[in-house]
Amino acid sequence: MQQLTVASAVTNLHGVGIQAQKHLRRLGIVTISDLLWHIPFRYDDFRELTTIANLKIGQTVTISGTLGLIATRPAFRRRLSVTEVLVHDATGSIKVVWFNQPYLVRTLKPDDRVMLSGKVASRSGTIQLVSPSYEKLRGADPIHVGRLVPVYTTTAGLSQRQLRYFVSQALSVVPHLSDPLPEKLRGQEHLASIAETLATIHFPKDEAERDRALGRLKFDELLVFQLSRLLAERERQPERAPEIRFRETLVRPFVAQLPFHLTASQRRAAWEILQDLERSPPMNRLLEGDVGSGKTIVAALAALNATVGGWSVVVMAPTEILALQHSSTFTELFERTDLPILLWTHGFCRKTIRGRREELRRSAGLEKQLGRQAGIVIGTHALLSEGVAIPRLGLVVVDEQHRFGVEQRKLIRTKGGELVPHFLSLTATPIPRTLALSLAGDLKLSVLTTRPRGRKPIETIVASEAHRDRVYASVEREIAMGRQAFVLAPLIEPSDVLGIASATSLYEELQVLFPKRRISLVHGKLTGREKDAALRAFADGTTDLLVATPIVEVGIDVPNATVMVIEGAERFGLAQLHQLRGRVGRGEHHSRCFLLPQNMTPLGRKRLDAVAATHDGFRLAELDLQLRGPGDLVGTMQSGFLDFHFATLSDHALMGRALSVAQRLLAEDPTLSMVPDLRAQIRKEMPHKE
Ligand code: ADP
Ligand code: MG
Repeated sequence: MQQLTVASAVTNLHGVGIQAQKHLRRLGIVTISDLLWHIPFRYDDFRELTTIANLKIGQTVTISGTLGLIATRPAFRRRLSVTEVLVHDATGSIKVVWFNQPYLVRTLKPDDRVMLSGKVASRSGTIQLVSPSYEKLRGADPIHVGRLVPVYTTTAGLSQRQLRYFVSQALSVVPHLSDPLPEKLRGQEHLASIAETLATIHFPKDEAERDRALGRLKFDELLVFQLSRLLAERERQPERAPEIRFRETLVRPFVAQLPFHLTASQRRAAWEILQDLERSPPMNRLLEGDVGSGKTIVAALAALNATVGGWSVVVMAPTEILALQHSSTFTELFERTDLPILLWTHGFCRKTIRGRREELRRSAGLEKQLGRQAGIVIGTHALLSEGVAIPRLGLVVVDEQHRFGVEQRKLIRTKGGELVPHFLSLTATPIPRTLALSLAGDLKLSVLTTRPRGRKPIETIVASEAHRDRVYASVEREIAMGRQAFVLAPLIEPSDVLGIASATSLYEELQVLFPKRRISLVHGKLTGREKDAALRAFADGTTDLLVATPIVEVGIDVPNATVMVIEGAERFGLAQLHQLRGRVGRGEHHSRCFLLPQNMTPLGRKRLDAVAATHDGFRLAELDLQLRGPGDLVGTMQSGFLDFHFATLSDHALMGRALSVAQRLLAEDPTLSMVPDLRAQIRKEMPHKE
């Protein structure tokens, strides 16, 4: 075999045939380098070595023993096979089973000495190891058992085992990797070398090694981010936005006729925004507030003020259903004004003035539809890529976008003029102030800290498997009273990891459990139209129950939904659970959220109890990081924040360091000639830059 290098094709590795090559390519892995950069997203902690006599049900353990007779037979259920073997050590023996892995009888032979890692379960009264990871004892350090074992993103047909085997071979090139960061800088910042990082991130000895490697990955990611944005800001011409005067005599009466009083923080946020709009540097403001804190009305006030001044406003939502929701909220709010509200999405082209609806022809174009009138255009983020051409665009409001880069803003220009619009992002993600301020040079922050008065807290109950019947009985009672329910699952489809709830299997089970109820299913693998249809059916009360993956996390507002069951609750981040439960408790009725874990560890119990006891999303985000398990590589609360792979919200100190290093590098070496690898990455990050 020729000498392996980072540029070699993966086909040079032992075991990569045509099939594996195809699967790897689907993961974007063509070269050894790609493979090394395929970073695990978590680890199985299989470090605890136990003797068979000491096994306890529910433990995740590793045993070392000798195989007895191994055999495969068909299982009760059709198309399923069971491979069984008795394993013994000096203290006793235990039955081990694998499902649907008949080829194991060719790999594992009687009298083989093996290590097995997995969960101890109880089946018909006896304890078993079910589908454990296995490895024959060979003297070399094991990679599948008895350690922190990496778990990768993969694709059907490519097993974790194969990936681990391929990666373990690829590691031989790591000592020859060139490091994108100069040694001096690494020393100053106490960073691991890239060679050390890649070697240990796949197979860390312990948490300390993993964290040191992760620290380097985070740092590089944040540094590239900071360099990109500093360069972009350095090259950007000063921009001007329209100076939109605060029309106090119109805005105040509007606020006075609302059915509620604004909270103190809503008032302050609105004031900060209205002040920004008066100035000509374009506003770039983040309005941050927990679910239900009332961000929409603050944005609506800014929109009203802009349109009264003759400037149009774009409101962008992450999904069509949310765009629809915003459009009905805005229509209702401005029912008594002459303000045109346009809903402009994939499925809708509609104008509403004074509550009167008019369907529009898309072919006429957005620009024509508005005419000379200032209005509010509501759409999805796709509005951006379609290239909005809106005359006199004064303000863009983006709901839950999680990216505050210059790129989006670059895509929006007021038609024909020199002016750019003001920009307001709404988010429920608790981004620490210090972090927010280092995301963009001009980013400002308004935070809604007080909750609207009269909002009832959502009763949150940590249930257990034994309570499952009672949980669903209480769901049935709510539906019988005309209310609606959410049931959430961590996965879309049943997986090979046994026993994790999936949305599709729950959907089937619940149809049996609630034969008279109408149920919809929504998850990320559906098309946009299917998703919207399912969400819409639930929103308008056509269905009683919505089974979903966390896709419902952002924004859906169904005040009639009063109960939520979160299956496999231990698998979610705390902040995420908080966001999810925020989907109930939006109406006048008392609401409940049942957290139904499937695997309860003492740490898991602590985490879920925290969610039950705490109704402050910011506090929960902090707790989330304090109460993390040893296997979590990527922050559990990350959920797409800013597209960072490794950095999380708690990394604001690291972000600060990356910022000062970036400033120093650019000051000493404006063209970044000393760090060509970083420069290349920046190019990749900024496709819009020449
Ligand atoms: P979010 O911040 O999650 O986007 P919304 O803007 O959707 O929250 O507001 C949630 C609900 O609270 C809406 O029904 C809204 O009308 C209502 N609301 C907003 N502000 C107040 C307030 N000051 N007092 C009472 N209810 C309010
Ligand atoms: Mg909202």
